[in-house]
Amino acid sequence: MLEVSPKEGKVIVQGVNIVSRHLRPRRQGEAGGIVKVEAPMYACKVMLYCSKCNKGVRAKAGTNSKGEKIRVCAKCGAEL
Ligand SMILES: [Zn+2]
Repeated sequence: MLEVSPKEGKVIVQGVNIVSRHLRPRRQGEAGGIVKVEAPMYACKVMLYCSKCNKGVRAKAGTNSKGEKIRVCAKCGAEL
């Protein structure tokens, strides 16, 4: 995770939610082009990484063997 903005509930994650900004040359001689920017996204939308599934997965609420609330992988049920 690169940046967190708790006020807005947004995070910026490396390599996720890349948007292309099309830039126009503002001055003569300046190059326009497309710049890739990492856009902020809502933290709740960030996928958790499951090492079992080897990819980002949706998390759901679950309980562990002690009855504590944990987040588990929605696919394989592994604790996240
Ligand atoms: Zn999983």
